[in-house]
Amino acid sequence: AHLVAYPIRKIDGFNFVAIVAGRASGETWEGRESGDRRREFEAAFRDWHPDLRSLLGHAASATYWPLCTVEDGAWHNGRDTILIGDAAHALTPFAAQGAAMAIEDARELARCMADSPDLPSAFARYEDARRVRIGRVRKRAAFNSFAYHAAGPVRVARDLVLSFKKPEALAADFDWLYGYGP
Ligand SMILES: Cc1cc2nc3c(=O)[nH]c(=O)nc-3n(C[C@H](O)[C@H](O)[C@H](O)COP(=O)(O)OP(=O)(O)OC[C@H]3O[C@@H](n4cnc5c(N)ncnc54)[C@H](O)[C@@H]3O)c2cc1C
Repeated sequence: AHLVAYPIRKIDGFNFVAIVAGRASGETWEGRESGDRRREFEAAFRDWHPDLRSLLGHAASATYWPLCTVEDGAWHNGRDTILIGDAAHALTPFAAQGAAMAIEDARELARCMADSPDLPSAFARYEDARRVRIGRVRKRAAFNSFAYHAAGPVRVARDLVLSFKKPEALAADFDWLYGYGP
């Protein structure tokens, strides 16, 4: 399992995203709370730090999402219709970049449409630029999934590498991701 926490200004609180391998949560996206789900969630974090478990136990609500991805497919029909964001390339959440990629897509598409004589050539330019970028982010997400959920000797090696790495060096590894300008 892995857990990410971030503040949300609108609710003056925190969102915790807990990702656990196990039973698929079904196809529903309604995110309904249920006692069974909460018990499963608590069981998945049983061995984590007591402070963290107490915090999670006090969560105002717990909702669930299945993890779905959209692998390579057509992004446009070559004429007048194009998909961007999750509809085109929904990613696993291990790099937390789905919304970021959708925003970059919009910026890049606007640029290509402004600079191209017609839609088909704008779409082709857009696709050339975005497929490379999305592919790289997809690979990073797969690597993070492997690293976050590592077990046994791989986990020991991961923790060792992280303990030697300075925070600045760790952050610099992501310059290509966060420093990107479409
Ligand atoms: C728990 C969680 C945490 C996340 N954390 C992050 C994060 O930290 N960073 C990050 O970058 N991304 C994050 N994401 C991913 C991010 O939310 C998505 O990648 C992003 O919302 C995709 O944007 P989109 O506009 O492509 O699609 P969506 O946001 O899904 O928008 C599609 C819209 O279309 C509407 N719609 C669907 N069908 C129809 C229809 N037939 N007619 C009209 N409207 C319709 C939907 O209601 C929806 O409003 C997270 C996702 C989840 C679930």
